[in-house]
Amino acid sequence: MEDTIFDKILRNEIPSEKVYEDDDVLAFKDINPKAPVHVLVIPKRKRQRFSEYRNVESDEAGIFMKKISSVAHSLGLDESGYRVIFNCGPHGGQEVEYIHAHILGGKKLIWSAG
Ligand code: 5GP
Repeated sequence: MEDTIFDKILRNEIPSEKVYEDDDVLAFKDINPKAPVHVLVIPKRKRQRFSEYRNVESDEAGIFMKKISSVAHSLGLDESGYRVIFNCGPHGGQEVEYIHAHILGGKKLIWSAG
């Protein structure tokens, strides 16, 4: 499996602005934010793409979803709302081959599917 920038962030080999960490996930600020709040959440158990989740145990995927929701809550976004995005593969615009959820918020987001 390709070693990515997010593997290095997880191993603390390169710095990141962490906003949450536990045994299952790490959340850190996106280096090139597309909204006032732009946080990336990665599972510590590496998966490369969202498409792999069809083959994983429900618990693993479910825990990841719960943690993404908890991170958004801890960022104070529940009332105003936010967007969660998984880019998957070339057509999805995925640049880093380590599954990650984008949490975007802090303003009214426009919708563009590309
Ligand atoms: P993707 O296009 O793969 O869904 O999103 C990758 C995201 O990772 C982009 O929004 C990009 O700004 C972010 N990113 C790339 N390199 C770094 C980095 O070194 N540190 C942080 N914090 N974010 C990064």
